[in-house]
Amino acid sequence: MAIVTADSTLPTVQSYIDGRYFPSTSNKTFVAVYPATNRTICEVEQAGMAEVDAAVDAAQRGFAVWSAMPALERSRILLRAVAIIRERNDELAALDTLDTGKPIGETSTEDVVTGADVIEFYAGVAQTLHGDTIDFPGHGFARMKREPLGVCVGIGAWNYPIQIAMWKSALALACGNAMIFKPAEMTPLSAGVLAEIYTEAGLPDGVFNVLQGDGSVGQALVRHAGVAKVSLTGEVSTGKSVMADAAGTLKAVTLELGGKSPIVVFDDADVDSALNAALTNNFFSTGQVCSNGTRVFVQRGVYEQFLEPIAERVRALTVGDPFDPDTMIGPLVSAEHREKVMRYMQIAEASGARQIVGGDAVDPILAAGNFVLPAVYADCTDDMEFVTDEVFGPLMSVLPFDTEDEVVTRANATPYGLSAAVFSSDFARSNRVANALQAGSVWINDYGTLPASLPFGGYKQSGVGRENGANAIEHYTQVKMIYSSLVPVEKYM
Ligand code: NDP
Repeated sequence: MAIVTADSTLPTVQSYIDGRYFPSTSNKTFVAVYPATNRTICEVEQAGMAEVDAAVDAAQRGFAVWSAMPALERSRILLRAVAIIRERNDELAALDTLDTGKPIGETSTEDVVTGADVIEFYAGVAQTLHGDTIDFPGHGFARMKREPLGVCVGIGAWNYPIQIAMWKSALALACGNAMIFKPAEMTPLSAGVLAEIYTEAGLPDGVFNVLQGDGSVGQALVRHAGVAKVSLTGEVSTGKSVMADAAGTLKAVTLELGGKSPIVVFDDADVDSALNAALTNNFFSTGQVCSNGTRVFVQRGVYEQFLEPIAERVRALTVGDPFDPDTMIGPLVSAEHREKVMRYMQIAEASGARQIVGGDAVDPILAAGNFVLPAVYADCTDDMEFVTDEVFGPLMSVLPFDTEDEVVTRANATPYGLSAAVFSSDFARSNRVANALQAGSVWINDYGTLPASLPFGGYKQSGVGRENGANAIEHYTQVKMIYSSLVPVEKYM
């Protein structure tokens, strides 16, 4: 595991640079807590500027080796890593459950699994990267060569620690880049283990490094002249800072940011199916998912039918111990985040919207953790603060609508544009609405299905660029044109 035991009783997590754990010279540490109890689980050594420079140096050396390696060999190493990750699935899942409080039933079946799938997908893509040629008969020809960017930085959010580390590194490494990954301060445990696994799989030293620390470490990496590209998963405000900091050296950025995504349910929809999608995509990970469909627009003809089963369904969700395989709702990630979510719960309660379920106090047994019970409000209006803002907690808003044009306008009336869904049995209408919704991912009669081959990312302020899918290589490679002349250069001057 990513930790060494020092004299203290707490395990200490270090950065991982150049193929090994690396002590910090900053003399600064912070702690991570288990959100179900708020007990401290480890101490983390904050990387200092010396470690930032060491990681960039190591990554540049690693890049020289890795980018010169045949794609087939790179692909084999990534596939070996996938095999080890799958063998160690439960251990990685347990680390993320400890860090985030997300139920083990999720982390062991979704987070690690979907991360490994993406590495496997890009291991295949690595072998298909190729250039192109254009002939200029009688003159010459040009070849367009696809080259990696260099040292890429990945900065992760706390809600999917291992999955984000795998998604970002898979794409960067498959394209021949090196990566320095900074996990969120609250979730330091699993990234170092991923680095160990890459090393065991044969990845050359320095190709994947992990720097532990807070936003200042991320910022130092973003500003570093030796870094070619940054990919952040985080809040919109952090995305704006990262983009501004990256501008100093004109780095490319990929930004995977927040959302307030709509689910549109028409009168002719399979209402049970729409309700299943809405509940899962509001309460999975206790609502801490960027792509969740938190604004549920339901046409008036099926409005009450849609609402009727909700209270019973939500009250049946098992809340409690994240390590119990039956648990569906774990704690929120931190006491601070719980306070933010509770504030929105109070705003919802005072808003005049109709409470379908929610407002109950958690079992006193769980009081030491950051638990919040799921809530659903109906008859919401577009301007209510909990309807416009990303709450990132288990709070679902249901809004009635009358017409197709109306719902498209209302669904798009947000600065976000991450995901959306349409439920309707009318093929033409569902596709018309899907075309009109301003979001990077739109599902028809479904929500959240996202195999590794599909691109993911946001419109508007939900992001820049895409992760996953074959097209995302555009964001991690650059095209070099090499023109070869077949004739002498004519005298011009
Ligand atoms: P934050 O934006 O707070 O943090 C994200 C990461 O950025 C953390 O590692 C953080 O460090 C780091 N960071 C903070 N400030 C800077 C800075 N100035 N420069 C560089 N790095 C910095 O997001 P959260 O961790 O709170 O994650 C929740 C957010 O992530 C939500 O808005 C959610 O929607 C979004 N998200 C988006 C996804 C997507 O794919 N679109 C997927 C998952 C989440 P530290 O925290 O250690 O201080």
